[in-house]
Order: sequence, then structure tokens, then C-alpha cells
Amino acid sequence: MVTVDRDFLFQTLADLIRINSVNPTLVPGGAGEAEISEYVARVLGDIGLDVRKLEPEPARISVLGTISGTGGGRSLMLNAHYDTVGVEGMDEPFSAVIREGKIYGRGSFDMKGSLAAQIAAVKALRDAGIRPRGDVVIAAVADEEYGSLGTMSVVDAIKTDAAIVTEPTAVQICLAHKGYLWIEVEIKGRAAHGSRFREGVDANMRMGRFLAQLDKLEQDLRARTPHPLVGPPSLHAAMLHGGDGLSTYAASCKLQIERRTVPGETEKQAVGEIQAIVDSLSASDATFQAEVRPFFVRNPFEVPRQAEIVKTLARASKAVLGREPNYMGDTPWMDAALLQAAGIETVVMGPGGRGAHAAVEWVEMESVAQMAAILAQTAIEYCA
Ligand SMILES: [Zn+2]
Repeated sequence: MVTVDRDFLFQTLADLIRINSVNPTLVPGGAGEAEISEYVARVLGDIGLDVRKLEPEPARISVLGTISGTGGGRSLMLNAHYDTVGVEGMDEPFSAVIREGKIYGRGSFDMKGSLAAQIAAVKALRDAGIRPRGDVVIAAVADEEYGSLGTMSVVDAIKTDAAIVTEPTAVQICLAHKGYLWIEVEIKGRAAHGSRFREGVDANMRMGRFLAQLDKLEQDLRARTPHPLVGPPSLHAAMLHGGDGLSTYAASCKLQIERRTVPGETEKQAVGEIQAIVDSLSASDATFQAEVRPFFVRNPFEVPRQAEIVKTLARASKAVLGREPNYMGDTPWMDAALLQAAGIETVVMGPGGRGAHAAVEWVEMESVAQMAAILAQTAIEYCA
């Protein structure tokens, strides 16, 4: 097994935390990825990788670093985002202070610890003089916390056989995550003076009928047989807006729904369930008119346990941890779904810690070192 340069690993992690890389779309005025991309490009160049930058929108820069294989082996991408959420309410967002084996700061856990582990993994290969037959690629990507501009530009630029998204999983192998779907339902009424009840059609009242049925669907979703790794699907009535004035019948009422999907569910099916409510309400009252408009989709993700990259990662985990790995599913959406949709066999595994998007965030240093060793071992075996 190769040796991880721990000094390099933790220095790199501290440097990454100290660079403000708050996602500027998520948080207006956020520093963005320009400075951190410079840093990562320099470090990857220093350890001998071929470096290229992707800039699909001004200053929204991702970095690819590649060790070209000697030829004939499978290629592997290690993918981590380096944008972070905002720092409001944090006492020490950029301190990288170390206490009791934890390193603190915004992005330490989500997910600069993971990126540092990826970089140290590749350095370990270089230090050991190992050059696999297949390419090993580090993707340090922008904008995961908002629109995934980074990973979308990566899948346009390169295709590898497999990818490991190193989102933190407490050193467990994550085989599935949920997707989500945003759907707008607009109930159409007819505006009229508040005194003219014969003319007005009240869109808000009709939305009440719709919500009563949606509530039943929501309960039904959670009562379905849960996905073994991510649980049941769900939805919530996230935002509601209806009516223009007190003395006017509401001509329109709009509801934006978020529907969380589980592997195996499709957009068509989830939208169909909501359309069915509208259809049945329309059938029982000709004045009930509504439109169902899906406007954003992020698909769920699942990879079989028998997939080659999963088996290789499991063997490497066992070699490093000295025990069988744990498997898990997670509920938030990740870039893994985009990579898999691009035909790249993808799995998720990263370090342990706490406080993603919270006021106190830290990553457990030992788990970062374990991940570096696991990723190095996986690359050696998978790309051999
Ligand atoms: Zn993340």
C-alpha cells in the first residue's frame, strides 16, 4: 500500500479552507471559485499533473488534473466541489484551526477535506512512482451548491470509465441518493369585484381543494415501500401565492411543489400523480381549471453493489480500514447523478465530520487521511 504524505494533506486542506470560495449565485457577493481554482491548479501542477481549467461562465472555474495512463487501462475521475455555502453566523469560517483531531471552517467537511484527500491520493501514487495504465483525473468543480455548472462542464469535456464523488459519508460507501423535481401548479380563477359573487371564480378557494388532495398524496408517498437505502419519496408545498387584492376575486393561485424522488421513480410518473389530482377535481367541477408545469429536475442516483468501481472501492476500504466497509444511501442530491447520466459508473464516498451548511463545521482529520489512502489504492487497482 502507498504512503500518504500527511503533512502535505493537512497543509493543503488548511490552505483550501482559508481561501474563501462561497458560491456567488447562492450568496450574492460570494467570492466564487477564481482564487481557489488558481490554488488548486498550482498544487496539481506541482505534483506533476496535466492541468486544464474549464470556465463555462465567467469566473466559474473548475480544474481538471490528469495523470495520463501508459495505455489500455480503465480511467477514473475523483470528483469534489470546492464552492461552499455562505458563512453567516460562523465565528471562524476561514480559520482552519485544529482541535482534538478536527479541522474547522466553512467547507472543511463539505467538501474541502474530500478534495485534499483526492490530491494527496494522487500525490501518493506519484511519490511511489506508480503510473497506472488508465488515466486518473482529479476534478475540482465549481457551483455544486447551486446549479452544478462545474460537473456539467466536466462531463462535456471528458469521459472516464468510473468516478468517485467524494462527498462526505463518514467513510462509508454511498450507493444511492434521492432526486428532486420542482413543479408549479397554477389554479385559474376569474377576477371580479368582491361584491360580484356570480362573476368571480375564486382561485384561492380552489387551491384549497387541491391542497387537501395533495396532502393525501403526500401521506401516501411516505407510506409506500421505502427504498432500502434512501427511504420513501416525499413532497412539500413549498411556496404559495394567490390573489391581487382584498376586494377582488383571485384570478390565479400558484403553488410551487418540491417532490423528492427515489431511485426507480421517473419525472413522468411523479408529475402524473399530481396531474391526476387536477383531472379528478376538474371532472367534478367545470370551474376548476389548473395547469401543472414541471420546471426543474434532478434525477435520483443508484449504483449496483456489483459494479466494478464499487467492488474495487470496497476492497481498498477493507485494506485501509481493516474491516468490511459499511454501505449507505443519502437523501440530498449530489453531482453523482450527472456523472452517472453521462455514462460514467459512479459511487460516492468521503470523510466524516459535521456541520455542512451549519454555523460550526469540521472534518475529522483521521478520516481524511483514510480517504486519501482508500482513493490511492482504488486508483491503483481500478486503473491498473
Ligand atoms: Zn457538498
